[in-house]
Amino acid sequence: MKILVLNAGSSSLKYQLFNMETAEVLAKGLCERIGAGGAVTHKRPNAQPYTEETELADHGVALSRVLSLLCSDQYGVIKSIDEIGAVGHRVAHGGEQLKESSVITESVVKYLETIVPINPLHGPPAIAGIKACLKLMPTLTQVAVFDTSFYSDIEDFRYIYPIPYEFYENDKIRRYGFHGTSHRYVSAELAKILGKPIEELKIITCHLGNGSSITAVDGGKAIDTSMGFTPQEGIAMGTRSGSIDPTVVTYLMKTKGYTANEVEDILNKKSGLLGISGLSNDCRNITEAANAGNKRAELAVKILANGIKKHIGAYAAEMNGLDAVVFTAGIGENQWNIREKVCENMSYLGIEIDFDKNRNFTRGIPFDISKEGAKVATWIIPTDEEYMIAIDTQRLATK
Ligand code: ADP
Repeated sequence: MKILVLNAGSSSLKYQLFNMETAEVLAKGLCERIGAGGAVTHKRPNAQPYTEETELADHGVALSRVLSLLCSDQYGVIKSIDEIGAVGHRVAHGGEQLKESSVITESVVKYLETIVPINPLHGPPAIAGIKACLKLMPTLTQVAVFDTSFYSDIEDFRYIYPIPYEFYENDKIRRYGFHGTSHRYVSAELAKILGKPIEELKIITCHLGNGSSITAVDGGKAIDTSMGFTPQEGIAMGTRSGSIDPTVVTYLMKTKGYTANEVEDILNKKSGLLGISGLSNDCRNITEAANAGNKRAELAVKILANGIKKHIGAYAAEMNGLDAVVFTAGIGENQWNIREKVCENMSYLGIEIDFDKNRNFTRGIPFDISKEGAKVATWIIPTDEEYMIAIDTQRLATK
């Protein structure tokens, strides 16, 4: 079966076409600047990437262009869209009701529309992508895979914020958690690699990218996670502050006259690694600057690593034990300096890494960085959210 996976952003549409029999990516690409010009990059294995500038008025136009590229004589990988068995959509937020990956029906779309107020950035483009697909391929099974659904079993004392309870009841303000598809994928991969049933493992997964989150996975289920009501909570990120004293927000508004939108902009787009260093949101640049002696870049690295360390400690306590730690995503997979800083002086918890292996790791494959005899296994596992979405889509489409 061939599965098309779509990930719609506000002005972008990422796609990957999988052959599920061989677990191969047949083609993948990105439509950018939707609604404001437009460009497509289309890639196939062993072929030069194809790029074009073309008017992409909306997600529907972008999707049509993707489908025609997938089927084209010159750049295509299938003869017609009839070869696509199902479409999987990445949807960041499934609210409280959509607790698992779901076949898309009218009522699913309606529910997603009702939760746009708590998901204002990612909700509308995801819905636009789904609607475009329903219009262009109305008979095809479409599946929504939610970043939040991995957290649907988290217990209330971990998702309720200690604020007046009616804000939860009336306004649905609670921890939802994000990046669930990635945490689910890497924890399942690790169990496979270790050859142990996931039900017997206590794993902490660290998804460290531009946005970062850490999840405690006990017996295959997420029991706690660092992101909350929005992807703003948790550790310091590329441009997001992560958790701070909430009074900082009101203090800034009162003393500086900032509006709510302005403070949100500061905390979302001008904080984190960028805010601390004043240099860049990119961990590679920060690392380089820190190595060259830039004090604020050094501070940014310390704050990031310490945030990760604190969460690992907290989650080991919550799970009453720890078998494995996984690093994934851009920073987790590539930045050995961050992994080293996080894992040093953690032997009390059983985390001991081999510093040589950690520095001389092989990119792009699961890689064991544990020290010989360490109680806790520490691994780098490349994430693959799209493949996880394709697996769920195939399962539901063939049910
Ligand atoms: P996003 O959350 O946007 O998906 P990524 O997972 O691509 O983010 O991670 C981006 C971060 O990973 C950046 O801080 C970047 O510096 C860091 N990084 C370090 N090395 C690499 C690399 N080789 N490729 C991609 N990102 C890297």
